[in-house]
Formats: sequence, C-alpha cells, structure tokens
Amino acid sequence: MADFLRAINPAVRDLKAYSLSAHSASIKLNQNENPYDAPNAIKEETLRRLANRRWSRYPNFVPESLHEKLAAFSSWRPEGVIAGNGSNELIQALLMVTVAEGKRVLISEPTFALYRQLTTVLGGQIGSAPLTNTFQFDLQGLLDKINEMHPDVIILCSPNNPTGCVIQDNHLRQILRSTKGLVVIDEAYHEFAEHSVVPLLSEFENLVVLRTFSKAMGLAAFRVGYLLAAPTLVTEIRKAVLPYNLNAFSQTVAEVALQFYDGTLRPFVEQIIRERRTIFDGLNSIGGFKPVESSANFMIVKSAIPPRSLFEELLKRDILVRDVSGYPMLTQYVRISVGTPKENDFLLGAFREIKAQLHPEQL
Ligand code: PMP
Repeated sequence: MADFLRAINPAVRDLKAYSLSAHSASIKLNQNENPYDAPNAIKEETLRRLANRRWSRYPNFVPESLHEKLAAFSSWRPEGVIAGNGSNELIQALLMVTVAEGKRVLISEPTFALYRQLTTVLGGQIGSAPLTNTFQFDLQGLLDKINEMHPDVIILCSPNNPTGCVIQDNHLRQILRSTKGLVVIDEAYHEFAEHSVVPLLSEFENLVVLRTFSKAMGLAAFRVGYLLAAPTLVTEIRKAVLPYNLNAFSQTVAEVALQFYDGTLRPFVEQIIRERRTIFDGLNSIGGFKPVESSANFMIVKSAIPPRSLFEELLKRDILVRDVSGYPMLTQYVRISVGTPKENDFLLGAFREIKAQLHPEQL
C-alpha cells in the first residue's frame, strides 16, 4: 500500500464509494425522480425573482425566509428547521454531530445505502435489524436490537428506499420511547404515502424528520432538502452545516415550489400514486414477475430471470431501472420508479415481451 494511503481510516478503505451506474435511456426509471418536469409557472417565477436579485452578493447566511416557509408548509416551528443542499447533506450533518469512534447507529436493511456508508466513514458501528420476509419493518426485531446495542442514533427510511414500506405511528412511538438516542425518519418519499410523522415532533424531542425537494417536488436538479426537529437539537446540528450551504437559485426555487405545491405539483403526485397501482397490477398479471406493494414512487419487483439480465433486456428497449440485487435480501429484485402513463405502458409492454421469451421452466 502506498504510504500516503495509510492516512486513510482502514474502515473507509474497505468501503466502496456510493455510486450509480452510468447508463442512460429515454425512459429513466432508476432514480425515483419525478417523471414530470417542473411546470413553466415555477420556472418563470423563479427566474423572475433571480433576475431581480444581485448575483454578486452571497445568499443569506441562514436561509431564514425559506425556513419560515418550510415551517408553515410542514406545520412545524421555524427554529426547528434546517434547509440543506439536498437531504443527503443533512443526513451527513446529523451524523457528524452524533457519530464518532464507539458510537452506534441502528438501521433496518435493505435501505438507502448512505446511512451505513456515512456512519462507517465517521468511525461509528452499524447495527441492522432486517425487514421481515414480506419487507415490512420488524418492530420486535428493532426493539430487541435497541435493547442489545443501545444505539445513539436509529435511522429509518419511511417509505423505505428500496422496498416502499412505511413505519406505523404506533410502532414508531414504541421505538421512540424505548431509546435514549435519536430517531431519524427519512421521509424523502412521504408525499406518495400521504402520511407524515411530523405531528409526532411535538410529542418527542428525540425525533428528527428529513425531507427533500428531489422527489414529489420535482426539483432534483437543485439539491434542496430539509430537516425538522426540536429547536435545541437543531441548534446542535447546525454546527455541522457549512455557511451558505444553499445557493440563491436553490433557495428561490424551493420557495416558489412551496407556493405552487397544492395547485400545481400535488396533482402530479396523485397521478403517480394512481400509476403505481397500474404498474403493480400490470406486472402481477404478466406472470414471472412479482411486484411488492409500495407506498413510494417506486417498487421492487422479483424477477424470474437474473436481475442483471432483466436490467439488460429493459435497457435494450431504452428503459433504465435499478438493479438492486446487491442489497441484502434482494438478490432476485430490480427497483422500478413510477413514470408517466406513457412510460409505464411502454414498461409493461417491455415486460410482456421479455416474459414471452422465457422458457416455461423459468416461470
Ligand atoms: N433519502 C432517501 C431515502 C433517498 O432515496 C434519497 C435519494 N435517492 C435521498 C435521501 C437524497 O435526497 P436528496 O436529493 O435530497 O439529497
């Protein structure tokens, strides 16, 4: 090993960087993005506001006006909000102020890979309570693990990426009561579940909620996320957030999107929820593929052929999905994001063609 690499923490050297395969296709169903572009009304209003600001000046040190709007939108307190450069940045900030050598983080896998990755980079230990074999949160498994390892932080993604399961409020209450640590609920996809745990924030000071503009709000390009928690906790987490973390463009477009959410963006979310059912029923009726019920804008699908072959077959037809077979429990699965009705029809057509090529013993 080159001498200078000895400076790198051995736990980090053992990790592979979080990455995404570089394929591209016209029908892009691999990143759980919103298939509908931001409407012109949002683009035009954002550009109008930006034209009227001085570009030579820094954005606000803390984006207070956005924090106030996020608080109003989420029915929470402005002192309990942090906006970030994507919710990824806030996961990182939260782990930076909680994790060090000897600290323990509990997650429920399979889940979003970044929690394990960042915890390990920061020198913490991961404990994992697997989902049940029907891909639900395992309350008893989580409670047992809490008793056994006394985690400093518990991170649950709800709806969970990549399986789409949701933690029930009464289960979450039990988890919150059974730990002295923080409980983080990553609600990146909550709009598609039409449920949020934000009302529990006023009951539990150890709860942290993470949200994003990258999915339902259709603004993945601009990297905006936010964190909601008790103001005392937010004061601590802010210490790990860089000044000017959110550029002026992102602050502005986020404010505009909040203003337009109900009338303009929510109908797209409703359409995606309806299409999720269409894809689920469609895949089920083909045979050879078994979708798993999801409360998000994606679902995992069990495949009669190896997931890599299914991925390649779909790519040949200009459709990009996510091969999640490297995740725990998911060796036979791909993950598909919900697209527009036209894209979803095309997807189902592609699955029918692939099914028609299968040998009977593969079914
Ligand atoms: N949390 C989850 C569960 C996600 O799936 C993603 C994105 N794939 C993120 C957070 C990151 O979102 P952002 O774009 O806000 O950084």
